[in-house]
Amino acid sequence: MDPAPLRRALLDWYDAHARTLPWRRAPGSGAAIDPYRVWLSEVMLQQTTTVHAAPYFEAFTRRWPTVADLAAADDADVMSAWAGLGYYARARNLLACARAVTGGHGGVFPDTEDGLRALPGLGPYTAAAVAAIAFGRAANVVDGNVERVVARLFAVETPLPAARPGLRRLAGTLVADDRPGDWAQALMDLGATVCRPRTPDCRRCPISAWCAGFASGAPERFPVKTVKAARPERAGVVWVALDGRGRVGLTRRPDTGLLGGMPGLPTAGWGAGEDAPPGPGPWQAAGAVTHVFTHFGLTLEVRVGPGAGDLDWTDVDAARNALPTVFRKALERGLA
Ligand code: SF4
Repeated sequence: MDPAPLRRALLDWYDAHARTLPWRRAPGSGAAIDPYRVWLSEVMLQQTTTVHAAPYFEAFTRRWPTVADLAAADDADVMSAWAGLGYYARARNLLACARAVTGGHGGVFPDTEDGLRALPGLGPYTAAAVAAIAFGRAANVVDGNVERVVARLFAVETPLPAARPGLRRLAGTLVADDRPGDWAQALMDLGATVCRPRTPDCRRCPISAWCAGFASGAPERFPVKTVKAARPERAGVVWVALDGRGRVGLTRRPDTGLLGGMPGLPTAGWGAGEDAPPGPGPWQAAGAVTHVFTHFGLTLEVRVGPGAGDLDWTDVDAARNALPTVFRKALERGLA
């Protein structure tokens, strides 16, 4: 396939329909864009939606407007500001990367994929996205959205995840030196708003004339997936210790492992953390909360009581802001 007309059609569509996002410049403007903002947005967007990430992005860039500001931030402040975005290892990597840019590169992001890839926590996708969007490099930026569009465009029958290298290669055949940052974002936007996972809106699609999935009559069949194994389930107990003065007893999760370094409630039975009630009680049962992590589902029985001992007593409102989602759910259940 000659990619030139397809590229032109998608870039024209992007010029007219690009989503307005706080980390973007207008399509085709060629205006300079701060690599710090591109990098931060891409890290935030790796497992969440633009709608969910946007307020976090605004808050981060207000509080830490440059990579040097972020590098100098207190770890606990950054972890707390990240709460609600999930995947806390990313927040730790975020700090490590900001400090590497400031300490090892004079506060200036490297402008090539290889240079970016050498930074801590910067995987191939983020390196390619920053290289393309911030530095105009013809990088092959392939995320889940792009995989889906490419799988449909070429009607790739190989199931995921085995199809991944082939999809990446096919995506690479569409990349060119002309507007690589806009190209990457045009594909992302197409995947997010038109070539949607379950309901591709092919009638609105600017590249339907080239799309083999559309021609097949069942584009939503692509990318073909292998049947998934059931997600394992874990269970445990969480204690909501209240002191009667509007404060709740928190702990700090161990640095390694799930939610590492984050504030939490005392727990037992589902991994790193405490394994005994934080005090003699009496503890009252307050129902259960469920939460789905990447690799397992979790049900925690909630117990409420007075607590004692070595807890970090924190105002309930401050705790709501600082706690990761699973613990915030447990706190709300305990207060209900
Ligand atoms: Fe996706 Fe349909 Fe467009 Fe093909 S024609 S890329 S399936 S929206």
